[in-house]
Amino acid sequence: MIKEKDPLSEDRTNLKKKTLSVVVSVYNEEQALKECYTEMKRVLDTLSWDHELIFVNDGSSDGSLEVLKALASENPKVKLISFSRNFGHEAAMIAGLDYSTGDGVVCMDADLQHPPECLPQIIQALEEGNEVISMVRTRNQSAGLIKNITSSGFYWLINRISDVHFEPNASDFFAVSRSVAEVLKGNYREKVRFLRGYVQNVGFQKTTLEYEAGVRVAGESKYNLKKLFIFSVNTILCFSNMPLKLGIYAGILSGAAGMAVLIYTLFTRQGAPSGYATIVVLICFMFAMMFLLIGIIGEYIAILFTELKDRPVYIVRETANIEHN
Ligand code: UDP
Ligand code: MG
Repeated sequence: MIKEKDPLSEDRTNLKKKTLSVVVSVYNEEQALKECYTEMKRVLDTLSWDHELIFVNDGSSDGSLEVLKALASENPKVKLISFSRNFGHEAAMIAGLDYSTGDGVVCMDADLQHPPECLPQIIQALEEGNEVISMVRTRNQSAGLIKNITSSGFYWLINRISDVHFEPNASDFFAVSRSVAEVLKGNYREKVRFLRGYVQNVGFQKTTLEYEAGVRVAGESKYNLKKLFIFSVNTILCFSNMPLKLGIYAGILSGAAGMAVLIYTLFTRQGAPSGYATIVVLICFMFAMMFLLIGIIGEYIAILFTELKDRPVYIVRETANIEHN
C-alpha cells in the first residue's frame, strides 16, 4: 500500500528546531570539566537551535570519566563516548563527528580556550548557508612565544610546499554542516591525518570567524613541543609530496657541481685537487644527503604501512545516551 504524504507532518518537520552537535574532546580534564559543562550549558540554553553535547573521553586516566557519566545521567542531552585508551585529540573529534546527529557540528576543547560565547555567531553563520566555519585565533594568551613562532613557521612552510591552503592560526575549533560532516565521516578515514586541513579543503561555502583564545581554566596543556613536532612532520608528509622530490633536486645539484669541477679541471689542465680534507668533506656531505633522503622515503613508507594495516581510528569502550551505532 502506498502511503500518501501528510502535508501537515511535512510542515511540522520543517518547523522542527534545528540541532547543534557540540563535540568536546576530553583527556584528563577532571578539574576543568565542571566549569566547562556549566559554561557551555549556559550558552547552549540560550540558543535558537536545540543541542546535543557530545563528550569524547579519550582514555583519561583521572576521574574525567566518572564526572562525565554523572553529567550524562542527569542530562539526556549530554552524550558520552569513551575510548578504550588514549587515541589522540583528532581521533576524539572524528568519533564526535561520527556519532553526531545535529544539522551543524562544532568541535571544541574542554578547557574553555574555545569560548562558548562564539556559539551564537556560529549558528548565525550556519543559518546564512555557510557549511564550513573556521575559527581563527586572533591571540593565544596561553601559548608561549616558542609555540607561537613554531606555529607560524609551520604554516608558512606547509603553505609553500603543499597544493592545499592552510589558514594560519586556524584551530581545532571549527563548525561544519551536516553534509560536510558526512563527507568527513565517509571519505577522510586516514590513520595519519590532519583534520583541520581536511576541514579547510573540502570546499563548500566557507567562512572564517575570529575568536580570542582564552587561558586554560584548569589542568595543563596535553601538547608538548615533541608532540607538536611529530604532528607537524606527519602533516607535511600527508599533504605534500615535495620532500620526495628533494632527491631529484639534490641529484641535479650534485650532478651540476660535478660537471663544473670536471670542466674546470679540463680547462685549467690541473690534476685533481690533492686535498684529503676535500674528499672527506664531500663524501660526508653526499652520504648525509643520501641517508636523509632514504629517511624521508622511509617516513612515507611508514605512513603507507599504517594505512595498509587499516587499524581502527579509535575503539569505543562504552557510551551513554547514545541510541544509534
Ligand atoms: N585532548 C585529547 N586527547 C589528547 C590530548 C588532548 O582529547 O591526547 C583534548 C584535551 O582534553 C583538550 C583538547 O584536546 O580538550 C586540546 O588539548 P590541550 O588544551 O591540551 O591543547 P592546547 O590547547 O594546549 O593546544
Ligand atoms: Mg587547550
